[in-house]
Amino acid sequence: MPVLVMKFGGTSVATLDRIRRAAKRVGVEVAKGNDVIVIVSAMSGKTNELVGWVNETSPMFDAREYDAVVSSGENVTAGLMALTLQEMDIPARSWQGWQVPVKTTSAHSSARIEEIPSDNIMRKFGEGMQVAVVAGFQGISPEGRITTLGRGGSDTTAVAFAAAFDAIRCDIYTDVDGVYTTDPRVCDKARKLDRIAFEEMLELASLGAKVLQTRSVELAMRYKVKLRVLSSFEEQSDDAGTLVCDEEDIMESNVVAGVAFSREEAKMTLVSVADRPGIAAAIFVPLSEAGVNVDMIVQNIAEEGRTDMTFSCPVEQVKRAEKALNDAQTKGSINFHELVADTAVAKISVVGIGMRSHTGVAAKMFQVLSSEGINIKVIATSEIKISVLIDRKYMELAVQALHDAFELEKTG
Ligand code: ASP
Ligand code: MG
Repeated sequence: MPVLVMKFGGTSVATLDRIRRAAKRVGVEVAKGNDVIVIVSAMSGKTNELVGWVNETSPMFDAREYDAVVSSGENVTAGLMALTLQEMDIPARSWQGWQVPVKTTSAHSSARIEEIPSDNIMRKFGEGMQVAVVAGFQGISPEGRITTLGRGGSDTTAVAFAAAFDAIRCDIYTDVDGVYTTDPRVCDKARKLDRIAFEEMLELASLGAKVLQTRSVELAMRYKVKLRVLSSFEEQSDDAGTLVCDEEDIMESNVVAGVAFSREEAKMTLVSVADRPGIAAAIFVPLSEAGVNVDMIVQNIAEEGRTDMTFSCPVEQVKRAEKALNDAQTKGSINFHELVADTAVAKISVVGIGMRSHTGVAAKMFQVLSSEGINIKVIATSEIKISVLIDRKYMELAVQALHDAFELEKTG
């Protein structure tokens, strides 16, 4: 029998009523003749509460115990979902990560899945179980301890199961009805996409469209798992939501698929550093050791042996970045005249695989921003993306103008 993976996020299992509603969706898929693996998150808010308890008890906590506590939210919803299905006369059984087992690395609180043997669950399907309800977000380390996969990790659990069980699809039920051309709260013309390519989704996910954990999209792309994002609050047809799929499965698409943005960015400039071999390493190695997520990097043309180096990072990491760079200055490994931080910038990106074969996207983006009188501070490009840093106060305006200019409200 074909295996289908269905994942329900925190808001979709937030109450017993919602668990019942989700279970009904599962029942529909079982009635179609699928063996179903349901992956559940903790009830919404639960994981935050558990993390809070750990921090209050032990600020310098032992990560193994953090995982022991924080993984428990999913155990509750897995058991409740199995009970709800049983009440509907659907043979269901809950599975905690270690029971499957979901084998992970021992990097507690951010473990990676290494292997999911399918035999235990397949044997139970053979014996008449129709639904395996698996606690998302957790696994077991080689040392035999419970691990968790990082916040939002049950998306990754779901995709990993779909790959391990060669599932026909992985349906991610959430509180939005799909992936949009941009955030509808910022642009009311945002349109739900029927399909989006893995690579586009990856760019949108890592750029701040928070529908799916980035790692889950990476995994789906590697194993070519068809991922569908859809709402658990609406009656669903077979083609509801957004299908995240291989680009070959998309017939025609817009050159630009979406506009992503990230509000809390900062731009930092090291004014006048020596233009010598090793200067970039001298700057960015300490930053990386300090855990600063550097995004865009620009080095100016040198004059008289000196150059400026500019980079962007999340606003909340500015203090950490300043400390790392000032420490390096004290040690004499870099020698800058000044360190300037601009903490009021936002990043806007246009994304689309069509950019590989169409020229002029960058030019059009710059024209649009210029006609709105918006100054561009930094530009970075990849094969399928153009990103700019601008003043944060123009972020909404820029998103709306770009959405209009690339006609994203129209289907491709
Ligand atoms: N419950 C976990 C979290 O809130 C994992 C998940 O829901 O994906 O991060
Ligand atoms: Mg989530």
